[in-house]
Amino acid sequence: MSFTLAIVGRPNVGKSTLFNRLVGKRLALVDDQPGVTRDLREGAARLGDLRFTVIDTAGLEDATDASLQGRMRRLTERAVEMADICLFLIDARAGVTPVDETVADILRRRGGQVILAANKSEGRAADAGVIEAYSLGFGEPVRMSAEHGEGLNDLLSQLMPIA
Ligand code: GDP
Ligand code: MG
Repeated sequence: MSFTLAIVGRPNVGKSTLFNRLVGKRLALVDDQPGVTRDLREGAARLGDLRFTVIDTAGLEDATDASLQGRMRRLTERAVEMADICLFLIDARAGVTPVDETVADILRRRGGQVILAANKSEGRAADAGVIEAYSLGFGEPVRMSAEHGEGLNDLLSQLMPIA
């Protein structure tokens, strides 16, 4: 069975880095559905033996402080609607921020399957942020580093039983 995983989270936590790692060169050709393809990127992902569709909540990079909350809310809700499972990424080096709490609220209201991941977790600088991540209420965070390719096996172990 195939499924769709949406990577959600505030700007700069590493969503696109993880997306690129999961998709490699298998980026889906985007057609020009207005709005959607620019702001939500879709690709064919592979992780271990799992094959699935992954969505990157792009389109937040150029948001100003004033436009960010609204745009993030819209895009995150859109991605969540398209997804069977959400991967909620935070930046463990930065810890939990108010914008992370906003994402958590959106995910809680929707009530689907959520995997929490603390990215940028390479090295000790991330330890405090990983602990803080429990406070978001999505259980134990997957400790990972999208940039260094660490924690992907733990992500796979979380995905296997619910995929
Ligand atoms: P997005 O805005 O959530 O899509 O985040 P990006 O994927 O564009 O990454 C934002 C920044 O974080 C970039 O400079 C990445 O190189 C960096 N980054 C992503 N993953 C990691 C990681 O695992 N560790 C560290 N230290 N930096 C990372
Ligand atoms: Mg991005």
